[in-house]
Amino acid sequence: MRETATILGIPVNPYTMDEAVDKLTKDTLAKKKNFIVTANAEIIMMAQQDPGYKALLLNQADMILPDGAGTVWAGNYLGYTVPERVAGYDLYLRLLEEAARHKIPVYFFGGTPGIAEAAAREGQKRWPGLEVVGCRNGYFKEEEEPEIIEGINRSGAAMLFAALGAPKQEKWLSKYGKKLQPVLRMGIGGSFDVLAGKVQRAPKWMQDAKLEWFYRLVKQPSRFGRMLALPKFVLAVREEKNRKK
Ligand code: UDP
Repeated sequence: MRETATILGIPVNPYTMDEAVDKLTKDTLAKKKNFIVTANAEIIMMAQQDPGYKALLLNQADMILPDGAGTVWAGNYLGYTVPERVAGYDLYLRLLEEAARHKIPVYFFGGTPGIAEAAAREGQKRWPGLEVVGCRNGYFKEEEEPEIIEGINRSGAAMLFAALGAPKQEKWLSKYGKKLQPVLRMGIGGSFDVLAGKVQRAPKWMQDAKLEWFYRLVKQPSRFGRMLALPKFVLAVREEKNRKK
C-alpha cells in the first residue's frame, strides 16, 4: 500500500476507489471490523479545532479515505502519492452494489424521517436483491440511543451507514464502536438525501473540473460559512509544507 499521507496531522490512507471497495468487501465477508471515515478538507479542518474529533480520527478510524479535491491536492502537494478522490457518496454506492452481490445485509441510519426508507427503495431498484434490514431517522434524544443500538444489532446488519453529518456521525459511530455489531461502520453525510433524489449532486463535468464545492454553494448558499474551511485549509497546508522545508 502507498505511504499514509499525513495532512495537518490527520493520517489519510491513499487507496483508490477500486482498492477500497475490494478491501472493505473482503474484510466484511471475513467479519473483520472497519470504521471508515471519508475525510474532505472540511473534516480535516474540524479536527484542527476539536481535539476530541482529532483523537477519534487518530485512534479509532481503521481507514481514512481522501474525499474531495482538496484532500487529494494536499496529499500530493505535501509529497505523498494520492491517486484519486474517494468520495463518500461514491463509495457508499459501490458498497451497496457489493452488498447486493454478496447478500450482505445493510442498515440505513440518519436523515429526516422517511429519507433512509426512500434511499433504501431507490437502492433496491438499482441493485435488486439489496437487503436493507433496517432504517432509522437521524433525529433522536440521548435516552433513545440504547434502543437505536439494539435495533441495529437485532437487524443482523453487517454494514451500518450513518448519515448524521460530520462530526456527529463519526462521534456516534466511535462512541458505540464496541456495542455495535455491524462489522463495517461508515459516516456518509447527506448521502441518503442524494440517493433518495432530494438533493442533486453536481454534474459529472463539474466534479471532474473539481468544482463540486461551487455547485453545492450555489444550490445551498447556507453552506457558505462551512465552506470558508476550504481556503483556510489551503493556507494551512501551504504553511505545513513551508515548515517542512
Ligand atoms: N442529520 C441527521 N441528524 C442530525 C443532523 C443531521 O440525521 O442530528 C442528517 C441530515 O438530515 C442530512 C445529513 O445528516 O441528511 C447531513 O447532511 P450534510 O449535507 O450536512 O452532510 P455532509 O456535508 O457532512 O456530508
